[in-house]
Amino acid sequence: EGFCKKLPKIELHAHLNGSIRMSTIQELWDRKADRSGDLPFLEAQKTKDFQSAFSMFSVIYQLVQGLDVIDRITREVIEDFAKENVIYVELRTTLKAYDDKTKLDYLDVVLKAMRETAALHNIEVNLLVSINRAESLENAMEAVELAVQRKDQGVVGIDLCGNPVCGKFSELRPALEKARREGFKLTLHAAEIVNYGETQEILDFSPERLGHAVFMTDDLKSQLFSKKIPVEICITSNIKSQSCDGPLGHHFGEFYRKSHPIILCTDDMGVFCTSVSQEFSIVGDTFQLGREELYDLSLSSIDCSFASEASKETFRRRMRESRTSLG
Ligand code: IMP
Repeated sequence: EGFCKKLPKIELHAHLNGSIRMSTIQELWDRKADRSGDLPFLEAQKTKDFQSAFSMFSVIYQLVQGLDVIDRITREVIEDFAKENVIYVELRTTLKAYDDKTKLDYLDVVLKAMRETAALHNIEVNLLVSINRAESLENAMEAVELAVQRKDQGVVGIDLCGNPVCGKFSELRPALEKARREGFKLTLHAAEIVNYGETQEILDFSPERLGHAVFMTDDLKSQLFSKKIPVEICITSNIKSQSCDGPLGHHFGEFYRKSHPIILCTDDMGVFCTSVSQEFSIVGDTFQLGREELYDLSLSSIDCSFASEASKETFRRRMRESRTSLG
């Protein structure tokens, strides 16, 4: 555990609202005037399956209302990553309009909180604007346009996320093509449920990265391996949402043995009660990876980030510098 915490790490798959601290959720709940009974969030956590993981987001959204809360959680999430020696984070979030505030206001609040918190904690942070697959193409297009407006201020890419039983990649594809034309890197959630047809379409689209890639046929896997598209691996998330039985059966093992580029990620630190250090610790224990191998895994993740080449060099240097003190 100590080693995994000290190890400099990067995080490339973290949804802002899903990374909210439990204590903050509790505080927002306690402040609510019309609450009755237990925090429904805790109830939702008891019923663990893929769809109930999504029901937790609706509970979060009932409590996280307004840009002051978004500002706070952005700062807290980055602080939490910095505390466990994460040196670079790519946060992602779906833009929301609250009352009289626009989606661009939301984006600006997140970007400002990112900049200020990063400066305080010696961590670099970039943002991916998320498109929720349940959204209309029109909304997805709007998200890309807003991202374009803040391109030089820390928005480096676009993510496709959301409940995989809702919406279709093919219908939102024009928005992702637009994002690509605008120079954004793309990372798409793929194969979170069995949907081989869509997974094939996503592979054909060749995004820069994929999230999850759990339910793949041998044929899809061999295409993934030959295309070398890096995969953001979220073990605790997959286990807690019952997409796999346990760490030993997780596809991390196969991808790692194939030397496929992978990045260990938390997905939703708050919802799934995990940390990047814990994800490293899990693979260390489960797949018997030693310190050297965990170090190399963290180092190689840097290549998969959407940070600038200069920043990547800085992260590699920070990792090299830490090497002697890591033991
Ligand atoms: P937000 O975009 O900051 O509001 O973060 C929460 C949102 O991220 C959720 O409402 C989902 O749309 C998305 N999300 C979080 N975890 C997952 C996941 O495991 N699969 C797909 N989408 C996810």
